[in-house]
Amino acid sequence: MKKLSRRSFSTIATKGILGTTLLGNMPLANAFSIEQKNKKLGVALVGLGSYSTYQLAPSLLETEYCYLAGIVTGTKDKEALWQEKYNIPKKNVYNYDNFDTILNNEDIDVVYVVLPNSMHADFCIRAAKAGKHVICEKPMAVSVEECDDIINACKENNVKLSVGYRMQSDLYTHEVKKYVKEKTFGDVLFVSSDAGYISKGNPDQWRLDKSLSGGGALMNMGVYAIQTSIYGTGQNPISVSAQEFSTRPEYFKDTDETITAQFKFDNGAVAHMMTSHNANGNRLKCHCSKGWFELDPAHSYGPISGRTSNGNTLEFPFKKQQALQMDDFSKHILLGTKNVAPGEMGKRDMIIVEAIYKSIYEGGKEQLLSLGDIGIVY
Ligand code: NAD
Repeated sequence: MKKLSRRSFSTIATKGILGTTLLGNMPLANAFSIEQKNKKLGVALVGLGSYSTYQLAPSLLETEYCYLAGIVTGTKDKEALWQEKYNIPKKNVYNYDNFDTILNNEDIDVVYVVLPNSMHADFCIRAAKAGKHVICEKPMAVSVEECDDIINACKENNVKLSVGYRMQSDLYTHEVKKYVKEKTFGDVLFVSSDAGYISKGNPDQWRLDKSLSGGGALMNMGVYAIQTSIYGTGQNPISVSAQEFSTRPEYFKDTDETITAQFKFDNGAVAHMMTSHNANGNRLKCHCSKGWFELDPAHSYGPISGRTSNGNTLEFPFKKQQALQMDDFSKHILLGTKNVAPGEMGKRDMIIVEAIYKSIYEGGKEQLLSLGDIGIVY
């Protein structure tokens, strides 16, 4: 497949939408759909740490609608290694200082920010200003205010924005959403979800440094449990109460270790989530009026596994979630399909994260959430 430069795509797309120009005897709207099938969007990864190295770059070898076109790294040694491994030309290699000149690079359509959480907003906004579509890793930022800044920058610069919520593209998630929507097991009454792991590594890692992470388990793994609580009920919560537990304060000096939270939903459903950097958890279970369904594991890279109360096992062919996710976003850009993880979803989750921290600060007091105007229910 050939790559598609943003300028040529925009020209084709604009003319296609207007539908007035003809290519030979063919209306341009048709010419556009034929043209785009042969193109791939160029993605530049910003931050070549473990997620980019072991998940995103290999996944970009499997994507149908995008490919790894460029890199942005602060580590000089990585440049040649990545260039050779992924056949990246020198002109598509950037560092954090010259990153803004990516504006002039037609090979790059999408910038994917894979840096520590407190750096997301800065690089997403710079990418938007450079006219590039943006994928921002989870958690979207370290505050609701920063989420707004990213969303506004993308709107102002007329570029698309997505959050790296790979689960939104996973077939098991789609199946769960179908059960919820179609009430296959009746009404969902109670959802339980866990997302955590035992952190034993370097105590100086950025995930344990609040200035870089914005918070601990809740920021890192908790957003998965928030997501499953929401798509497990098919609604945004109307309130949350939360508790924090600390057993290794000498290691978790700066960030939360274990958090539990309870959500209420408008239809009377309830959810309980647990997130931890000191306990393993990787599960979603939905208890319904006529049975149950569960994913376990639910949040890892896959294969995911699921079961239902009528004895069925969920089985879908394995495909890298990250490849599905980046293809979904590329199709959104190229074909106008649904953005399955828009910026507003990342902002909604950050509103919930902030409410959880506030509840803990206020001794577990219930926090009312008004997420109606967010317009996102997944
Ligand atoms: P990592 O520590 O492996 O990589 C971080 C990268 O940022 C490195 O290349 C590092 O050199 C660079 N960096 C730049 N400035 C830095 C600084 N001041 N301190 C530390 N590193 C700095 O982290 P990661 O696991 O690749 O995570 C990166 C982002 O991806 C995070 O936002 C994380 O939440 C997200 N992530 C998402 C998933 C997922 O499943 N969606 C999985 C893992 C990580």
